Amino acid sequence: MNILGIESTAHTFGVGIVTDTGKILSNVTDSYTSDAAGMIPDKVVVHHNTVAEKVLLNALDNAKVDWNDVDFIAYSAGPGLDPCLWAGYHKAKEWAQKYRKTLIGVNHCAAHLSIGKVYNALQNPCYLYVSGVNTQIIVFEDGKYRVLGETLDIGLGNMLDKFGRIIGLGFPAGPELEKLAKNGTYVELPYVVKGMDVSFSGILTRAQQLFEQKKMTKEDLCFSVQETCFAMLTEVVERAMAHTGKKELLLVGGVGANKRFCEMLNIMCKERGATFYKVPMDLAGDQGAMIAWEGFLRKDESGDIEVRPHWRVDDI
Ligand code: AMP
Ligand code: MG
Repeated sequence: MNILGIESTAHTFGVGIVTDTGKILSNVTDSYTSDAAGMIPDKVVVHHNTVAEKVLLNALDNAKVDWNDVDFIAYSAGPGLDPCLWAGYHKAKEWAQKYRKTLIGVNHCAAHLSIGKVYNALQNPCYLYVSGVNTQIIVFEDGKYRVLGETLDIGLGNMLDKFGRIIGLGFPAGPELEKLAKNGTYVELPYVVKGMDVSFSGILTRAQQLFEQKKMTKEDLCFSVQETCFAMLTEVVERAMAHTGKKELLLVGGVGANKRFCEMLNIMCKERGATFYKVPMDLAGDQGAMIAWEGFLRKDESGDIEVRPHWRVDDI
């Protein structure tokens, strides 16, 4: 059985094809980028509509399958930006009608977790999900995902992107920020952990002030923003692991591409006799293969559910 998955919750339009054993046959993405502003939803929708057919054809081509070999179409129903979700849903619906396939709407966050779990062949890890808009510590208990801690305001990726925009890095800023951070030294920024939750907007404000007052170099600011935010999450995740007795940590989401972040989590895991897992770069960010795999897992319980922009992982 082959499942085709469509991703379009934010800046990435992706199509991936996976088998019912979790083997990835293809995973093609095309992401909206911008030199000046961040994500302007209307422009992102135009981007998605423009690239959709090309991404689809490349995905079928790379997988060496045609529509006859596709059993289901899974799509990202949410959470995400409303206009982007509708763009993806309309494509999914159009293709489902044209090629007579059944639609399976899936939760984007759960898809990130599931692809990381199958890729690393894990049983029941503690998940750290850090993407553009999401920052959550999640476990699976009694048949449900439970969020043990999360950001109280913005997701870490969005915070890094906002800060990147302030200092002129373009969008998305994460990779460039990581490069600049390599030549920085530490200055103190607010460290905001509240119980099991974290908050990033105060750090952003302080970093912006320091930049505008020309008190610190971009390099020092990038390094300090990274160290502070990553340390906050490492602290909270360690507490989650201690509380649940988990011995496996899985990092998913685009910010997981950051080497320093992985290094800090790896050290924490080693110190407590646990193992740190991540996913390769092409599975860390948004893509269609994870949607396809989550679609396979949910094929008997989901269907055409239109879009759910605010669908939390603990509401599945
Ligand atoms: P996602 O929403 O999962 O596709 O993740 C996208 C987010 O990951 C964006 O906010 C990027 O800035 C961020 N990101 C990508 N690469 C890196 C990196 N090397 N370091 C930090 N953040 C990153
Ligand atoms: Mg994502």
